[in-house]
Amino acid sequence: MTRHNDRDMWDAVVVGGGAAGLSAALMLGRARRRTLVIDEGRPRNRFAHEMHGVLGHDGVAPADFLERGRREVRAYGVEVREGARVSRLEAGDRELRVEFEGGRSVTTRALVLATGITDELPAIPGLAEGWGSTVLHCPYCHGWEVRGERLGVLTTSPAGLHQAELVRQWSDDVTVFADGLGSALDDDARARLAARGVRLVGDRVVEVRARPDGALEARLQGDRTPVVLDAIFTAGAPRPHDALVRDWGLARTETALGSFLAVDQSGRTSHERVWAAGNVVSPFATVPVSMAAGSMAGAGVNAFLVGEDARRAVGDGV
Ligand SMILES: Cc1cc2nc3c(=O)[nH]c(=O)nc-3n(C[C@H](O)[C@H](O)[C@H](O)COP(=O)(O)OP(=O)(O)OC[C@H]3O[C@@H](n4cnc5c(N)ncnc54)[C@H](O)[C@@H]3O)c2cc1C
Repeated sequence: MTRHNDRDMWDAVVVGGGAAGLSAALMLGRARRRTLVIDEGRPRNRFAHEMHGVLGHDGVAPADFLERGRREVRAYGVEVREGARVSRLEAGDRELRVEFEGGRSVTTRALVLATGITDELPAIPGLAEGWGSTVLHCPYCHGWEVRGERLGVLTTSPAGLHQAELVRQWSDDVTVFADGLGSALDDDARARLAARGVRLVGDRVVEVRARPDGALEARLQGDRTPVVLDAIFTAGAPRPHDALVRDWGLARTETALGSFLAVDQSGRTSHERVWAAGNVVSPFATVPVSMAAGSMAGAGVNAFLVGEDARRAVGDGV
């Protein structure tokens, strides 16, 4: 591993400055750890104008929330490099090397991966354009704002049955596009949805088009009459941004949504110096859940460093 001077050696590097990463950094900064946050600046909820379900910050714009978070961590001496991207990580025995796009690198005693996910949307024209405004994934985040309106649920897998039943809580005018449900749409599921007054459409949606009046039109295969909606819920496939450690052979958890790094309660992976928090390991985590995970990871990293400091102090060669 390359040698670096002390300025390039950090107690902790946090990759990703979203809700999870900044919460980890807050704990580390307040624990007087020399901490560097590297953030490319593309948080998952950047498509939405407002955040909801975040106590104390309901209705705040995601960008304002993160700006405030950066100010808070900087007040404790944390360095935040905005617009920078980590391109490579390398693990040594006592440190990790963190390489930036462009070739510069730093070393750190511990690392928090808080890089989030990408929502891979179904390849249907119009979905990406409305993502975060009229095309939604989480009724807890945005359901209140469209309560009682004409809502659609575009299912992409059998797991979509849960979303189809859930959205009914926010409106009694719900149309479920059931093409994606496959075997989940058995007689029992049909009966449950029908009993709740949910309409089922079996034809495939080929386009979701914004109308001049602000409503949406779900266009169906075979030129059937389009369905007019105010908003449509769907689930993107979560793609975790964990390529930086994908070849390391770390323990993973296989789920119906894909493969994610396995972590313990503090967010520690199977590498003793690497923690992971937020959506990168937990795709259902909302902002407050990601904050909690980041906070735990920050405390976990500090506890590890405290132990290592003590072992070094008694001279056991760590
Ligand atoms: C449209 C939409 C609306 C949402 N609305 C809400 C809501 O109202 N309320 C709510 O609670 N939740 C909401 N969510 C969920 C919310 O976005 C997530 O819970 C939250 O963003 C997870 O935080 P995170 O820190 O794990 O990841 P992110 O917020 O995605 O942050 C990860 C950061 O890491 C950076 N990064 C990634 N790779 C690298 C790299 N190699 N080097 C440097 N930086 C890197 C990214 O650019 C990004 O800035 C919404 C999600 C979506 C898609």
